[in-house]
Amino acid sequence: MIVRAGVLYDGTLEKPKRNVDVAIEAGRITEIRAANGDADFTAACVTPGLVNAHVHLEGSGEPDMMQMIATTTQNQRMLHAVENARKALHAGVTTIRDVGSSHGISADVRDGVDAGRIPGPRMRVAGLVLCMTGGHGWPIGREIDSPDEARKAVREQMKAGADCIKMIATGGVMTKGAVPGNAQLTPEELGAAIAEAHRHGVRVAAHAIGTQGIKNALRAGIDSIEHGHMLDDEAIALFKERGTYLVPTLTAPTCILEHVEGGGMPQFVVDKARFVNEQMLRNIKRAYENGVKIAGGSDAGTPFNYHENYAYEVELMHTLLGMSPQQALHAATAVAAELIGLQRSILAPSEPADLLLLKRDAGEDVRALRDVSVVLARGVAYRP
Ligand SMILES: [Zn+2]
Repeated sequence: MIVRAGVLYDGTLEKPKRNVDVAIEAGRITEIRAANGDADFTAACVTPGLVNAHVHLEGSGEPDMMQMIATTTQNQRMLHAVENARKALHAGVTTIRDVGSSHGISADVRDGVDAGRIPGPRMRVAGLVLCMTGGHGWPIGREIDSPDEARKAVREQMKAGADCIKMIATGGVMTKGAVPGNAQLTPEELGAAIAEAHRHGVRVAAHAIGTQGIKNALRAGIDSIEHGHMLDDEAIALFKERGTYLVPTLTAPTCILEHVEGGGMPQFVVDKARFVNEQMLRNIKRAYENGVKIAGGSDAGTPFNYHENYAYEVELMHTLLGMSPQQALHAATAVAAELIGLQRSILAPSEPADLLLLKRDAGEDVRALRDVSVVLARGVAYRP
């Protein structure tokens, strides 16, 4: 298969290539060369498939996620997860990391995609989130209250098919009573779980909004901080010293605040989202400007934050953080892929043929990613 690109962004920060053909065989890129002869597909712009490093596949953007978990059956949520995997793929998302799901749903979806039974992005999944008793996310959590329990919970998630671990270091927006600024799991609990996961080569992400919880997780050796909205200068220094990734999930509070009127969200969700959004606008840009590694992830599944709308996160990295469109695309492809660890998500020979055919140059207008004409996933074409 030959895909002809007017302009090609390979996922790195290198200068884009113009008028090139991408040759694909058996699901992999074999060569990128000057355009010549016939082509199977022609596109104004070609980019790597997008990588969303923070999703909850069983959530579909309902106004109250925890209420949805409480009032739906496991089977219904499995159906939703399958539908969301397809929607994400058709919108150009070819790799995701699910950082919290109930009943092993995401692990089963991952296996279904790998077996070719259902269409969807390639996935890494965390299973249940590790939280303190009554902590943020407990409806999809394994509650732990000591380092020993933390170790055991990591082993349980791995036994159930998790290939990454998610821990809750602070309160959050969606859980009633959990204060975003407050630290939750202790440094000892975080450290015990991280050491156990790392012993098996498994990476660990921490939900952390409050300053102390962010630093607890960074010092404990976490691989990525999710949200990170109240980070300070000391946290920025720790990020850089340890090479930890920040996944800022800009879409999550943004989508909540865009739907305050008539959105049907609990008042505590709106109030906490307002607070978190202020912190996010104050601090995340500073982290980016000071050289913290930013990986794209949207928290898709949370209120009005749809799996097929990941292009919005790329757009917000451009408008809110001051990244150029190419830098935002880099964060939402190669950097997010590096964090997930499945593949590089760079367009180069021998890499999987995960690429997007766009009608316009995404480097000139990042919103071109909202309108994908064809998605290639491992060389198979999907038309949204
Ligand atoms: Zn999340």
